[in-house]
Amino acid sequence: MSPPDERDGPARPRLLVATRSRHKLRELRQLLGPLRAELVSLDDVGIPEEAPEDGASFDANARSKARFYARRSGLPTLADDSGIMVDALDGGPGVRTRRYAGETATDGENNAKLLAALGDLPADRRTARYRCVLALVLPERPGPRGGLATITTRGTCEGRIARSPRGDGGFGYDPIFEPEGEPPGGRTLGQWTAEAKHAISHRGRAAQRMHPVLERLGF
Ligand code: IMP
Repeated sequence: MSPPDERDGPARPRLLVATRSRHKLRELRQLLGPLRAELVSLDDVGIPEEAPEDGASFDANARSKARFYARRSGLPTLADDSGIMVDALDGGPGVRTRRYAGETATDGENNAKLLAALGDLPADRRTARYRCVLALVLPERPGPRGGLATITTRGTCEGRIARSPRGDGGFGYDPIFEPEGEPPGGRTLGQWTAEAKHAISHRGRAAQRMHPVLERLGF
């Protein structure tokens, strides 16, 4: 193999996107492109361990996941912690969103449990919001208190829980989430295009705020 040609310019930096969710990975790749950096996944870099996810907030979980995988990989690492908060459930399932119907629950089981929990509540009592926290950790830069430097951005997407699932786009709770602006019984995020979802979604908003940070850091 011939050595790299200097005219090719410096090698692209790598940024680890620390998730095992193929849906989140796909969305983050769409949302953060185009960047100079190559976005690699946990599987691409061969990290089999699972970060503990026992924090009391999306913020705490996003930070601890990013730190965990940055330490293991030595790479700049971006983690996403997200979920849904339903007013009638006092903000639940919140940090338990992925495991709402059990440790290994499917999206369908989680959706069914949430629909059952809300029963016949009228539209104005079915309000909910998605939240997303993105945490970026740069392992080569010490933070102010000696730990790893961490930068976070957040996004929220307001809406309400539908009465029944509709649409097969998106993932997770999208087939039962009617975003703000849709009338009761209107289209769920599962019926929106990916581009339309990105423009208003919690992850889209957090990524819009993270993108200039990444660019400034040379990614
Ligand atoms: P975690 O961040 O790995 O704890 O999991 C977040 C969970 O929240 C996912 O498994 C989904 O159930 C849900 N979730 C997060 N973002 C979205 C989204 O954009 N659409 C639908 N469900 C989502």
